[in-house]
Amino acid sequence: MEKLKQRILELENISRELEPSEIERNEYFRQIQDYANSFINNIDVSKTFSGRKVKRDALSLDGKKKSLRELIKTYSDEVARKGINAASGGHLGYIPGGGIYTSALADYIAAVTNEYAGLYYASPGAVTIENEILNWMKSIFGFPEDAAGSLTSGGSTANMIALTAARDHHRIKSDRIAGSIIYLSSQTHHCINKALKIIGLEDVIIRYSDLDKNSRIDADSLNRQIIKDKASGLNPFLIVATAGTTDTGAVDPLMEIGKIARRHKLWYHIDAAYGGFFILSGLRKELFSGIETADSLVTDPHKGLFVPYGTGAVLVKNREPVLKSYKYSASYMQDSIQSVVNIYEPADVSPELTRHFRALRIWLPLQIHGIEPFIACLEEKLVLTTYFRRRLTEIGFRTGPEPDLSISYFWYPSESFDENAYNKKLLELIHKDGRVFFSSTVINRKFVIRMAILSFRTRLRTIDKAVQVINTANNKLKRSLSVR
Ligand SMILES: *Cc1c(COP(=O)(O)O)cnc(C)c1O
Repeated sequence: MEKLKQRILELENISRELEPSEIERNEYFRQIQDYANSFINNIDVSKTFSGRKVKRDALSLDGKKKSLRELIKTYSDEVARKGINAASGGHLGYIPGGGIYTSALADYIAAVTNEYAGLYYASPGAVTIENEILNWMKSIFGFPEDAAGSLTSGGSTANMIALTAARDHHRIKSDRIAGSIIYLSSQTHHCINKALKIIGLEDVIIRYSDLDKNSRIDADSLNRQIIKDKASGLNPFLIVATAGTTDTGAVDPLMEIGKIARRHKLWYHIDAAYGGFFILSGLRKELFSGIETADSLVTDPHKGLFVPYGTGAVLVKNREPVLKSYKYSASYMQDSIQSVVNIYEPADVSPELTRHFRALRIWLPLQIHGIEPFIACLEEKLVLTTYFRRRLTEIGFRTGPEPDLSISYFWYPSESFDENAYNKKLLELIHKDGRVFFSSTVINRKFVIRMAILSFRTRLRTIDKAVQVINTANNKLKRSLSVR
């Protein structure tokens, strides 16, 4: 016994390292805080993009102790300063992310107390907070209070949960897969196709709807297609619409598609990962009308609510199919079985059991700041989009059609040079500069530069800087081509 105790204490002496003293904790915190402050204080003058390679050796593990100071330096050099600075307002490509500070504080607390956010029994407080966030979202999107929902790692998982519910509601099992039909658009996010593959629906028939000139689903043509498919004895069961497509931010005609789905008794899913929270701003109210008719809805708080990456959300109006897909039990879980009225066990609506306490990174900011700055920030992005397009026109650029939300595109109409090649080169020069970041896409076979304004740090001065960067790069390119 004595020997045993002695060995335990020897081990404790080493493992105690994992519980730093208060003095050490304060010192760690001070260093982290200093770094966070310098990161935020300098974010406007730091680059948004760097194509430099990461030194892998600097990040490899050797099992040895190192000082936090040294590690912060490595983090800053190799992680924060390479690739796209997603926290920067100059991030105007893909779909910009968030990273509000009060979310980081929430993550810190959630990690310290390490709430178990999978089951009510384990952390009734954490699960109640998650339910409160979901209830708030239901009220925003006109979903009933008894709808089910889940906070996920992002839009991809959230879409997968919704599609699984659609599958199980319509009982699409192996014998029915071959003749069943899903209606998408060519602008549907690729994570939908990925999810269909994961959940065993790879072999259903997929129909891509016709689009109008603003890349929105043409509802009449969708309706005709469904009628035709039904007449051929096929089994249409799901329509996916998008509220804010990735390419151009287009919002499909949600109300009309909802009516079609109801008429033909199809599951109606809306992917509003990017666009959903713009509903909070009254500016585009009419575009979102009909969102409440969806059977399932996905939003990404790590986009439109500006919280850090790792937070998506799904709402499913009819809770039965989603519980059928995801609710399981096991003997080792018997202590936790207790049902609480109108509280969802997160584990019953998700492939995850143990999971991050994501709700706190939404809840704390909403409580500290109130909703008003979030709404103002979304509206600011819409107005900045209009401003940016006008400024681009002033310096000779062409812009895509009036956007529904905050994604648009532009190109320089070069007369003496292949337009696609010209704009590709222009984007290379902008990337090389690195002060702001844009991505590109192809619209009607045309290479265009995409602008997506969603970072909470994108301000008027950011757009003015972007215009300056673009103009300088364009003049440089024109000069280099004319001397040749
Ligand atoms: C971002 C996005 C997704 C994917 O969500 P992740 O959070 O990246 O997994 C899906 N659909 C749309 C419309 C998106 O904008």
